[in-house]
Amino acid sequence: MIQLIRGFKDVLPGESELWQHIEQTAAALFTDFGFKEIRIPIMERTELFARSIGEDTDIVEKEMYTFPDRKGDLITLRPEATASICRSYIQHKLYAADPVKKYFTIGPMFRRERPQKGRYRQFYQLDAEVFGSASPYVDAQLIYMLKILFHRLGVTDIMAHINSLGCPECRPDFRDALLAYITGKEAELCADCRRRKDKNPLRVLDCKVPACREAMAAAPSILDHLCDACHVHFETVKTALENLQTPFTIDKRLVRGLDYYTRTTFEMQTGSLGAQSAVAGGGRYDGLVKLLGGPEIPATGFAIGFDRLAEIVAQAGETYVVDPDLYVAALGEAALPLAFAWIAKLSEAGIRAEMDFEGRSLKSQMKRADRLRAGHVLIVGDDEIKKKTAILRNMMSKAQDEVPFEGLLETLGARLGKKE
Ligand code: AMP
Repeated sequence: MIQLIRGFKDVLPGESELWQHIEQTAAALFTDFGFKEIRIPIMERTELFARSIGEDTDIVEKEMYTFPDRKGDLITLRPEATASICRSYIQHKLYAADPVKKYFTIGPMFRRERPQKGRYRQFYQLDAEVFGSASPYVDAQLIYMLKILFHRLGVTDIMAHINSLGCPECRPDFRDALLAYITGKEAELCADCRRRKDKNPLRVLDCKVPACREAMAAAPSILDHLCDACHVHFETVKTALENLQTPFTIDKRLVRGLDYYTRTTFEMQTGSLGAQSAVAGGGRYDGLVKLLGGPEIPATGFAIGFDRLAEIVAQAGETYVVDPDLYVAALGEAALPLAFAWIAKLSEAGIRAEMDFEGRSLKSQMKRADRLRAGHVLIVGDDEIKKKTAILRNMMSKAQDEVPFEGLLETLGARLGKKE
């Protein structure tokens, strides 16, 4: 038997209803905050990711699914969505009339990481990006919107971790201070950090290896090196969050190793997931649109790990599975076409109706209705056809009564229809 690829997974009915619930909740909320959905392809030229994510990152170095297409062009299954959204923003000159644009997208991402709990090779992200504003209020708004989304989904064990990365003016100063701190500690660092420290010392700060964490515990904080403009920007984000009663903690280890990342950076963390505590990550990337060949336009955004979010939401134990409202037990040849027409009309009217086409006995049809967790069963056989009434059984209370064929669809509509 052919099995799915390691690190990939199926989302089966039972779980897919929860996924729909999250998608719909997020899309509705983001729309209320003025975001519009953008749908981008899942493959792009490799160069786009190499340039935007950075050649010396884990993702580009060893995690991308890259292959030549039949003409030999190198293409990559997207490991994240920001690069494609920027590419689209630039390519279609979406900034032309009004540079401020807010987009969201939901879809699969691909990274060839070591699979483990909460970590897949095809995983999903909910992504939101805002172009055209350098304002700290936009950063605060994104964090607030995330908080509201988590709360609407019943996730309250969530904390915003925030930091500032400064800007091309003040970061070199911090980089020097960090490099000075690291020098002399090389022996305590992992091989990756030793290799990367000169090119990208900021990445040593967020290395997850315990020895590196220990070695970096007393490292200088970037917040002590911010220029005045970056300092004011960060203070405004903090005040705006306080004004919206959005709790946060300052996390000086939260860094991104790439030059185009600027100022606010954040992560939403939860205690509900064990090792993989980050359920969303984001921040400002004022330099990326220019780096990818567009005009100098600031931007900020986030990506939520959908699989992890679904895992947390599932812990609440609520079910989003919808059961049939009605099961029509048709007995005998004559009942079949009647039942067939009824379930077609009922389903069309939004009453979830099922039936049996195989002519099974009443007993086995009742068993099946039970298994499907149908709310009601409508029984129709030769006797009922003669009397022109069907029997309606409430599967919870077990109460039964007769429903005349005349006006049957209206009666069922009134009794089983949506109660809103
Ligand atoms: P990143 O794009 O690396 O900033 O990740 C954003 C979010 O996506 C993270 O906070 C995770 O929740 C999620 N994520 C990243 N990589 C994976 C993965 N391999 N499997 C599942 N979720 C992931």
